[in-house]
Amino acid sequence: MYKMLKLMAVGLVAALGTVLAADNVTWSITSPGGIDSSNTPMLVGLAFDDNTYADGVNWFLDFTKDLKNKDGSPVRATYFIISGSSETDHLNAPNNQTTTELKNSWIRAYKGGYEIGDHTKYHDPLEDGADSTYWSTAITGCKTELASYGIPADSIIGMRCPYLGYGAGAFEAIKTEGMLYDCSVETGYNWNQIIAGYGFDSSGTWVNVPAIVYSESNAQGSKYQYFPYTYDNGPAPGSTAKTSQPMPGVWELPVQAVRFPATVPTDLSNIPDTDPVSQNPTGLDYNCWKICTTKDEFLNAMKYSFSLHRQGNRSPFYLGMHSDYYSNYNADVNADTSVDHFAVSLADRRAAIEEFITYVLQFNDVRCVPFRDVVRWMQNPQPTGTYVAPAQYGTWDAIPIVNQKANLASAKTTGVSHMTRTNASLNVQHPGTYRIGLLGLDGRQIYSGIQDMGSGSQTVNFGKTLPSGVYMMTINGNGEKVNKAVAVDK
Ligand SMILES: [Zn+2]
Repeated sequence: MYKMLKLMAVGLVAALGTVLAADNVTWSITSPGGIDSSNTPMLVGLAFDDNTYADGVNWFLDFTKDLKNKDGSPVRATYFIISGSSETDHLNAPNNQTTTELKNSWIRAYKGGYEIGDHTKYHDPLEDGADSTYWSTAITGCKTELASYGIPADSIIGMRCPYLGYGAGAFEAIKTEGMLYDCSVETGYNWNQIIAGYGFDSSGTWVNVPAIVYSESNAQGSKYQYFPYTYDNGPAPGSTAKTSQPMPGVWELPVQAVRFPATVPTDLSNIPDTDPVSQNPTGLDYNCWKICTTKDEFLNAMKYSFSLHRQGNRSPFYLGMHSDYYSNYNADVNADTSVDHFAVSLADRRAAIEEFITYVLQFNDVRCVPFRDVVRWMQNPQPTGTYVAPAQYGTWDAIPIVNQKANLASAKTTGVSHMTRTNASLNVQHPGTYRIGLLGLDGRQIYSGIQDMGSGSQTVNFGKTLPSGVYMMTINGNGEKVNKAVAVDK
C-alpha cells in the first residue's frame, strides 16, 4: 500500500517532467518551490474529527455542496472518521439516528468528493505507551470497516490520532500502514520554544533558523508558521514533541494555535506585528468554543488568525472541527447541564463556521481544500495564478474491484473496454476530441491528455506502468462526460 502511493506520487511528477525521490521535506517558514509569499495560494484546510452524528456531517455537506473557490474548484473538506461509531454496541451509537443514516452520511461525503480520513476504529486514548501493533489494529480496523461500506481503503491516506495523543508506537504504525500524512502534532502555542528562531535542521543539528522572534503576546508569530513537512527528523521547533520516532516520507500537517485578538483590529488586512493577542488555544473548534461566550468571539478569532497567515508567509490555515458539535442530538455540548456544554448555541456555532468560510472565499488566492490537497500542493507547489485546486473527483460510485479483462463497454457506449497497467482501450459514442484523465482513488492525477477519438476502440497510452489497484478514468468531450472506475491487477 505504501509502495503504491509512492509510485503514484512519482508517476504524477514524472508526467510534469520533474524527478522526485521519496518525499523528504524539512520544516520551513518559506514557501516551497521558490514561490514568493505574495504568489503563494492561501490554502485553507478544512477537516472534521469523529463524525458520529449524521446530521452534523450532513449539515456541512449541504452547506458546501455547491460552494466554489475563486478558481472554480469545489470547496471540500476531510472527515476523519471513528468507524466504530457506526456499530450499535459502541459508545454513542446510534446517537438518536440510525446507524444506516450515519453510514450514509459518510458515503455521501465520499461520493461528493470529500476526503475520508482515519481517526481509528474506536477512538481509544492510545497514547499511553500503546505499541505499534495496537495502533496498526486501530488504523486498519477503521479502514477495513469503512471499506465494507464502500469507501475504498486505498482512498484513506490521512490520519488524526484520537485526542491528539500519539507516541512512538503510533508513528511507527502510521508509517507502516502507508498513510500519506498525519495531522496530530500541535504547534505554535508555546512560543517560548521558538524564541530567537533556533531549532533542529534536517540532520538533527541545533541551528539558527531564519530569525523570527516569536512572542506569546503579539501577532507576529502566527504570521510565520511552518509549512507542512515530512516527519523524517521529528517535529518542527515549537511543536509538542511527544515522541522522537521518525516517520520518513510521511507528511505532518500541524495543529496550529488559534490567536484571539485582545481587541479586534479595524483593518484585518493590515495587522501590526505587535498587535496584542489575548489567548492562543490549540487550533481545534472544541478548544475555541470552550472559551467563547458569543458567536462573534469565535468568528473574530478565526478571521484574525486566518488574516495573520495571509499577511505573513501564507502557510496553510487549518480549520479543525468536529461535526458532532454541529448536531442537534449531541447532548454533551447542547445540554445546559453537561460539563462540556458550550455557551454559544448550536445555531450560532453553525452560523460562525458558515460565515467564516463565506468570508475567506471572497479572496482570489484562497482555496478551501481537504487536507490531502494541502499535501498535494506541497508535493507539486504552484503559484496562485497557476494553481487550480483539484476538481471534484470522488463522484463515482464505490464499486467492487473488477478484473481488467472485463468487457466494461460495448462499441456503442462510452467507456473503458479494456485496461492494462500501461494503456486502456476506450470507446466513445461520438467521434471527436476528448480529454482523457486517470486518477487514483485518493484523487491523485496519474495521467491527463487530449486525444482524437474515432469510431471503434482507441488506445490511450499512459507512458508509464501503473501499480495494481483501482483507478478512475474520465472521458470528457463532444458532449459526453463519463467517469468509470476500473481496476488493474498484478
Ligand atoms: Zn477525536
